Parts: sequence; C-alpha cells; structure tokens
Amino acid sequence: MIDPALADSLPAEVGKRVQSLSRKDARVIAVLDATGLSGEERGALEAAARRALLENDGVSSVHIAMNAERRRRQTIAIGSGKGGVGKSTVTANLAVALARHGLRVGVVDADIYGPSQPTLLGCKTAKPDAENETLIPIETRYGVRVLSMGHLVAPGKALAWRGPMIGKALAQLLDAAWDEDVLLVDLPPGTGDVQLTMLQRFRPDGAVLVSTPQDLALIDAIRAGQMFDLGEIPVIGLIENMAGYACPHCGEISDPFGQGGVEAAANKLDLPFLGRIPLTMDIRQASDAGTPPAAAENEESFAQIAAKLAEWMAVSPR
Ligand code: ADP
Repeated sequence: MIDPALADSLPAEVGKRVQSLSRKDARVIAVLDATGLSGEERGALEAAARRALLENDGVSSVHIAMNAERRRRQTIAIGSGKGGVGKSTVTANLAVALARHGLRVGVVDADIYGPSQPTLLGCKTAKPDAENETLIPIETRYGVRVLSMGHLVAPGKALAWRGPMIGKALAQLLDAAWDEDVLLVDLPPGTGDVQLTMLQRFRPDGAVLVSTPQDLALIDAIRAGQMFDLGEIPVIGLIENMAGYACPHCGEISDPFGQGGVEAAANKLDLPFLGRIPLTMDIRQASDAGTPPAAAENEESFAQIAAKLAEWMAVSPR
C-alpha cells in the first residue's frame, strides 16, 4: 500500500524505490527497494526518505525498512594473454579473499591446459559426487567450493576438444549444484575455443585480466581484453602479478619483469587497475602446498583487490 500524499512528498529518486508507504497517526512506515545499492547509497537513500517524510504535517516518527532482492549469482571470468603469469594463483586467492569478505564463492577451473585449482585450494585428491547428472562442487578448507576440468577428464585429454565438447564440459561445470553468490572462472590463457564458448554461450557478468608487467605478456593481455570487448563482456579491470621481488636475504626489491607496466596499460585502455601482487617465495611455496596465502589473517594484496571486486559486484548492472 502506498499513501499518495506521503509519496508526493518524496524526491523522485526516493519515490521510485518505494515498495510500501503508510501512516498511522504521527508514525510513518516505509519499505524501500535497495537492490543494487552500495552501503553508502543505502544510507543516503534512507536519510533522504526520512528527511522528506518528517516534513509532512503531524509526522513525528519515521520507520524505514530496506528490502534488497536477492541477487542472482554473478560469474566473473579470469583471463590472461599467456600462460604462467599466475592467473590460476590469482583466481584461487581472490576466491579465498572474497570468501573472507563474507561472500559465498565458487571456483570453476576451465583451464584445459593445466587445471590447477584443486591443487591450489588443497583438495586435489577429492572427487566430486553427482546427483543425477548434476555435479556437486567440492568443499575446500577455505570457505570456497571448486569444480575443475580435471574432474571431468584425464590430464591432457581435453586439449583436442573443439566447440561442442567444450560447451558440454563448461555446462557441466557451470550448471553444477552451486548456491554461491559468485563464480570465478579460471580460463585457459589466450583467446581460444574455451574463452569464445564461455563468452558467447555463458555470458559472464565481467572479466578480470591478469598480466605480468613485461611487454609481451601485456600485449597478449590486451588482446584477451579486446576479445571480451567484442563479446560485450565488461572488463572489470587489470591485475599486475609478479611485480617486484623482495630478496629474502637483504630485502632489496628488484623488478625482474619491470614494474607498473600493467597500470600504465590499464590507464591507456581506460580500464580500472585493480592492484598489484608481488613476486614472492611465500606465494609460490604456499600455492604449491595448497594453502593459499590469501587465507592468512594479515594478507593485504589479494584482500584489497577482492574488496574492489566485491564493490563491482554490488553495483554492477544485473
Ligand atoms: P597461470 O595460471 O597463469 O598459468 P599459475 O597460477 O599456474 O599461472 O602460476 C605459474 C607459477 O608461478 C606457479 O608455480 C605459481 O606458484 C607461481 N606464481 C604465481 N604468482 C606468483 C607470485 N606472485 N609470486 C611467486 N610465484 C608466483
């Protein structure tokens, strides 16, 4: 029910979000639709509504409830121009960091060249159960669930796959029994059939590109970005991995692959730069051991990028 006189007293941007608005004597109760708003925007909406409603004659108290439609699950593809730049490592750690941020996160490992998510997330011996034809994702210790191409076929077998087989395999992984808020899809490097099938048939909500700072990796990453652009999938931003190496003995920082190249490329392409992950022995060793560094209490690099992703998810068009 919407009281027309009260509705008239609201500014337009509040009025269009009213779900119900009623009055009992001096007390007004409003329910507003806060779908898609960030925390700050919700606060501003509530304040604007309260201010306007209190202007009405005889109104002395305003009670406001915010209602947000449950978001559908979002899918974010993580790509890179070439292999070995740390795309899988970054995907696993962003998933863990997003889970620590309070989101329910699934990882789909679509990297047919070297499915590594089960190793990175410390569950490489587990096999997914299935109910009828639907796979049940594997629980990890990090509040993230995972399914991998490696669960569907023996290593190397998927390399010869073309369109229809790839489509079928991706569908099995993506249409599994997920109830997560977000799926991160670890794509193979480059711009091959898996990427094309993913963007044409499964339409991720956005894509993130991982690159090391050297020119060659960057040129390929830019090409991968153009592929998403052509498919009208928004590129959420670029991440620089393996930037700056701190010598474990003397602490001196050296830049084996240069530094800042990805940020400069992002600026040039007018894309957001999401952050920089250093090249460290810890990241390499922890990843091999299946204990993602982002699970550590004081971890910052991945956590900061995850916060930006979470923000993007909260405000991205649905
Ligand atoms: P991709 O998925 O791009 O092929 P991987 O994530 O498999 O790359 O990483 C390749 C190798 O580099 C792995 O041995 C991984 O542990 C290591 N690695 C990735 N990122 C870092 C980093 N920031 N510091 C140290 N080693 C890293």
